[in-house]
Amino acid sequence: MTLQKDNPSHPDTILPSLRDIAFVCPLCRGELDVADQAYRCEPCSSTYPLHGGIPDFRVFADPYISLRQDAQRTELVLGVLEEYDLRRLLDYYWSHSDITPPDLKAKFIRNALLAERRGRRLVQVLENGPFRQSAIPRRVLEVGSGTGNFLVAAAGRYEQVVGTDIAMRWLHISRRRAREAGQADPALVCCCAEHLPFADRTFDLAVSSATLEFTREPGRALAEGSRVLRNGGGFLLNTANRYSIAVNPYAYLWGLDICRAPGNPATFAGGGKLRSTWCECFRSERLNSSRSSTSRLWRSLFPTSTMSRCKPSRRSHVCK
Ligand SMILES: [Zn+2]
Repeated sequence: MTLQKDNPSHPDTILPSLRDIAFVCPLCRGELDVADQAYRCEPCSSTYPLHGGIPDFRVFADPYISLRQDAQRTELVLGVLEEYDLRRLLDYYWSHSDITPPDLKAKFIRNALLAERRGRRLVQVLENGPFRQSAIPRRVLEVGSGTGNFLVAAAGRYEQVVGTDIAMRWLHISRRRAREAGQADPALVCCCAEHLPFADRTFDLAVSSATLEFTREPGRALAEGSRVLRNGGGFLLNTANRYSIAVNPYAYLWGLDICRAPGNPATFAGGGKLRSTWCECFRSERLNSSRSSTSRLWRSLFPTSTMSRCKPSRRSHVCK
């Protein structure tokens, strides 16, 4: 088990919002040293640099573009970050994608601009119902923070909210969203959901919305989210329903996966049934911070270990 340092050391250029977080090596979970404005893990000889103050702990690239392409797009974003507002920044970003159809670009931009409503809904779920806690959570982690809609909605409600994403470019765009909300740069870390660079039990709550379905190993991502939660912490999961007849939230097509026959409703051991319906796009789930819960939720959501059997909906559900 890895424990947090009392006084973690960081490169000088790191975002101020990250200074009291103790990182560990995402590969071997060893302690990190600082050298030449980067983190260095002696046990596995890994080096993790910073880009614009954000640590880069990725151990593999995101599923859509290479690390080199992500670096190129990050430079584009950084070049206009101080000058452009969020809308113009998104327009500028998508103007450099020559493989995305124009109508889809427009939908992606609109979706990002309206995303703060989704962030506020997640905050409401955390503060009510099954996620309500007797003490206000101190540290909250978002796995897959994208353009920062939850980070902006949750800022000020908790002592610290840390956003993570495998795309460095989105993390920098989320800085612009925070500034337009009158907030300082959020605590942002670039990493893989399957290899979080945090010590065990660092966070009181974790949130992951519309991210699990894009990970290489969703089961490992669930286990990592559980590992970094303190005992009794909650993990709010929200994933796309690939059986829905409603508009697919990514391709914007109706009934995209309706031809796939759903199986019987999955059942949690000691919990209720996952009663998904075909007209719901997303489902939110609570995962308690224990490995057995991780395993049960994983088997329930992905009974054949493939994404095609995921049957989420919009409701919240407690997994005990
Ligand atoms: Zn290491």
